[in-house]
Amino acid sequence: MKNLLFGFVCFGIWPVFSQSTLEQQFIDIEPKVIAWRRHFHQNPELSNREYKTAEKIASHLKSLGLEVETGVAKTGVVGLLKGAQPGKVIALRADIDALPVTERNSLPFKSEVKTTFLNTETGVMHACGHDTHTAILMGVAEILAQNKNKINGTVKFIFQPAEEGPPPGEEGGAPLMIKEGVLKNPNVDAIFGLHIRSNYEVGTIHYKKGGTMAAVDRFIVQVKGKQTHGGRPWQGVDPILISAKIIDGFQSIISRNTKLVDEAAVISVGKITAGTRFNIIPETTEFIGTIRTLDPNMRTLIIERMESICTNVATAYGGEASLQVEEQTAITFNDSNLVDKMLPSLEKVVGKENVRIRKATTGGEDFSYFQKEIPGFYFFLGGMTPGNKKFYPHHTPDFTIDESGLITGVKVFTQMTFDFLNQ
Ligand SMILES: [Zn+2]
Ligand SMILES: [Zn+2]
Repeated sequence: MKNLLFGFVCFGIWPVFSQSTLEQQFIDIEPKVIAWRRHFHQNPELSNREYKTAEKIASHLKSLGLEVETGVAKTGVVGLLKGAQPGKVIALRADIDALPVTERNSLPFKSEVKTTFLNTETGVMHACGHDTHTAILMGVAEILAQNKNKINGTVKFIFQPAEEGPPPGEEGGAPLMIKEGVLKNPNVDAIFGLHIRSNYEVGTIHYKKGGTMAAVDRFIVQVKGKQTHGGRPWQGVDPILISAKIIDGFQSIISRNTKLVDEAAVISVGKITAGTRFNIIPETTEFIGTIRTLDPNMRTLIIERMESICTNVATAYGGEASLQVEEQTAITFNDSNLVDKMLPSLEKVVGKENVRIRKATTGGEDFSYFQKEIPGFYFFLGGMTPGNKKFYPHHTPDFTIDESGLITGVKVFTQMTFDFLNQ
């Protein structure tokens, strides 16, 4: 009922061609999108193991007459839809992987899938909602294929594996897709992605310009001192004391050097390893931690300061220290011009009052790697029943989504595609 009403409200916004046809197409596609979502939900597959998921996506895209490439970044699927006239190239991306989480609810399409992940028995669940992303993008592909005569340009549908991260020792996700050339041939002008959210009401869209999700870095500090008796510290160099001073210094970077009125930043130490017993000052220590940043320049500054503190503090205390930083995820950075250009499309679908600015989060998202290459816009789609104050967070066994929000995702991607290519 709500969606019929919604469709009626939006009647008249679609450009170029018969609006009633498109409205009817949305009404027709909604039950299919929900059925696909339930199928994927009941048959979840872990990162880099999305074999059956990929098969179903590929066969759907082929049935629509798209050019389809499979096995991209192991299990990814890429579909190409060429419009009636040549023009720009837009990419729409959905992530397709599930998580090692045991589902805990009474849904009729609850996942009963079990597996062994890193030597632990676990259930497998679409606990982040990537099943909804996959189903939405399949729906968009069908709608756009039905209307390809009215499209100027090309649409690339990217079904991406392993967003949650490939298993240890494997490559995967957005970086591997890019390495294999997903943004080339034809070259993509702009890319769009969305994430369903269990805590935003159905019918709302949330976004932020610039840094929207953090860069995630892992760092390792190795400190070298000189081993000695715990009762005679003057005969050695204490790497534990040096580590304490370095860790303290790191926090001064956040409080004294980062411009916190612009963006947030975090440095956290998660593990310290040193020593063997109470009366020995050890030779070395090692500590590891994470850096979260939302601005590329701030990230550079923080890493430079950390290096300087490591080296200089250790030298001052007679030891040595080294810092190693490993990028886990880049900054999900929304191109301001592209956001400005696309906001009217979002507003046409859900109404201006339902397009809302959100704050940045310190979680990461590998869509960021596409945005490192080309302009991109990543936003959040409401998946919570309106008026419902209780929700279950992503990545938890009770995570649920109100499926009536999915059709909004289909409409938004469709509208953005028409507007971007036909403007
Ligand atoms: Zn997730
Ligand atoms: Zn996710």
